[in-house]
Amino acid sequence: METMKLALIILILFIFICPVSAAESYPKMLENPWDHSPITVFIDDENVPEHYSPTYYDQIEKAMGYWEQGGNGQLSFDPEFKLVDSMDKADINVKWVENLEKVEDAPDGVAGYCRPYVVDGKYVRADIVLEVGNYQGFSWQQYGDTNMREIAKHEFGHALGLGHSDDRNDIMYPEYEMKDNINPLLVEQSHTYLIVISGVVFAVLMFLGISWRYNKKKRESIENEIFDGWDDND
Ligand SMILES: [Zn+2]
Repeated sequence: METMKLALIILILFIFICPVSAAESYPKMLENPWDHSPITVFIDDENVPEHYSPTYYDQIEKAMGYWEQGGNGQLSFDPEFKLVDSMDKADINVKWVENLEKVEDAPDGVAGYCRPYVVDGKYVRADIVLEVGNYQGFSWQQYGDTNMREIAKHEFGHALGLGHSDDRNDIMYPEYEMKDNINPLLVEQSHTYLIVISGVVFAVLMFLGISWRYNKKKRESIENEIFDGWDDND
């Protein structure tokens, strides 16, 4: 009876707690971080690292467009961006570096980061730094456009006050900025390796098969000669 009561209490608690945690507000750094609109953005495509691709610029614009059109639906305001031609006029500064591991104060293991400067509960500026690639094993791999766009969307989400989501399908899930999970180039390369390896394995098997058959034939003909010889003697 006591066990039944306990089970019932647990069940009731579970029913009550679940909707509460599901309805828990989206993690935000600030609800509405900018005290003005449009939010000005400067994209530094002049001081770029060696492996910068000019197509990255478009990915930043697409990432901005994503949030202007509602993004992941978690903003309580409608952001509007305006590109400006200098860093001094910009609320958000976007720049690229070759590899974030070489940037001293960058967080570990990320492909990009957003650093907002908060004064009296509002952002006065936010710096977005994106790397153009990273080391995968021994070789350095450049990020493709899709990667760059997803990383940029994520960092702009931070620049609009959002924190990290636990939902894997949400753009604010930290996966989008973690290096380990965002390299289609590596996947493509592993794929190539696999094709080459299966090719080699196939060639070796073919060779073994052919030489086995060849040797079998040779054995057969030797045997035939010997047995034929014996037959003759009989
Ligand atoms: Zn993040």
